Amino acid sequence: LIRFDAVQKTFDGENLVVKDLNLTIHKGEFVTLLGPSGSGKTTCLMMLAGFEVPTNGDIFLGNQRLNSVPPHKRNFGMVFQNYALFPHMTVEENIRYPLKTRKMPAAEADRKVADILGMIKLGEFAKRRPTQLSGGQQQRVALARALVFEPQLILMDEPLGALDKQLREHMQLEIKQLHEQLGLTVVFVTHDQSEALTMSDRVAVFNDGVIQQIDTPSRLYEHPANAFVAQFIGENN
Ligand code: ATP
Repeated sequence: LIRFDAVQKTFDGENLVVKDLNLTIHKGEFVTLLGPSGSGKTTCLMMLAGFEVPTNGDIFLGNQRLNSVPPHKRNFGMVFQNYALFPHMTVEENIRYPLKTRKMPAAEADRKVADILGMIKLGEFAKRRPTQLSGGQQQRVALARALVFEPQLILMDEPLGALDKQLREHMQLEIKQLHEQLGLTVVFVTHDQSEALTMSDRVAVFNDGVIQQIDTPSRLYEHPANAFVAQFIGENN
């Protein structure tokens, strides 16, 4: 579905933060970009979303070259750590927003919003505003808003970073279940190795702008490609 082909990103003409990225993401896959702070994960996600343009190399969606396609013309859903819900809108209105901008007829939008509210168990909160919800509930709304227009790809950058451990583990499970139920294709960014290993089909381990290894969780654990991967995957496990 997605292919990064020899992608590089330089900031300010000299700061090379993504050095040579080659990565294929298949339809229906859950792929995590894992690595320490500053290793270039978010920059990769921003290039995929269209908020940053590669300095060299190409990103493809199928056969379409995406490099300079603006974000709103990519059919991708996004969920970030700071949920960025609209504070003046109710839960329902927040979730409906992407359908409105896509000019979906009201009756169809009503149905889609009701479906997703049920699926993500938000029905009883539909009329509340984001400030009247817990962190976990707000994150669910952000997830619903990203899913409601049935995007081809979901991008998540540390979506659970602000939650306490118990809620975080619960949400990991929920996201994983949604991935399986709906056949979503997900690119997930985290610096938490246990989160990456529990949730993903494949994990790309980043260090210093370079993917050190891309593999299934069990292969990473059992056959790390180098000392960095062994050490990083081994931490907290
Ligand atoms: P974190 O988990 O802390 O977000 P990360 O692995 O996602 O880390 P990036 O956010 O991709 O890393 O950042 C990689 C490097 O690029 C960092 O040194 C950062 O300071 C730099 N960087 C990111 N965005 C910009 C920008 N818009 N302008 C200049 N430098 C940037």
